[in-house]
Amino acid sequence: MEKRNPRTKSGWRDYLDEIASFIVRSRGKCERCGSKKELQCCHIHTRRYNETRWWMKNLMCLCASDHRYFHDHPIELDKFVRETYGSERPAELWERLRHSRVWWEGEYKKVADELWKEYDTSQQNKTTRK
Ligand SMILES: [Zn+2]
Repeated sequence: MEKRNPRTKSGWRDYLDEIASFIVRSRGKCERCGSKKELQCCHIHTRRYNETRWWMKNLMCLCASDHRYFHDHPIELDKFVRETYGSERPAELWERLRHSRVWWEGEYKKVADELWKEYDTSQQNKTTRK
């Protein structure tokens, strides 16, 4: 992964998607079935809102098949989120979305910095675990 400085808001969004997905997939296995194959970054709330789009609490590491399953079964997804992260997690996500609004460019940069910090921590944890 390389640090970049995109020139447009949509460039920033693509870039942040890339970093966030990388961090989430580096959890290394599907959070539902434990498979290590075809890992994807699943958004509990859609990517429509910047407030949750790159928030680790909104992201799960899932295999392609469980990812598809949850998109087709939103009620099961909600149940899984409550069981896995605690019953207060859905409300926490909605609370954050209540403050959804249009972003100015500097805010994307700020999220990128936070994600890079998260990335560095995840890399360190990996090396200490070995
Ligand atoms: Zn799975």
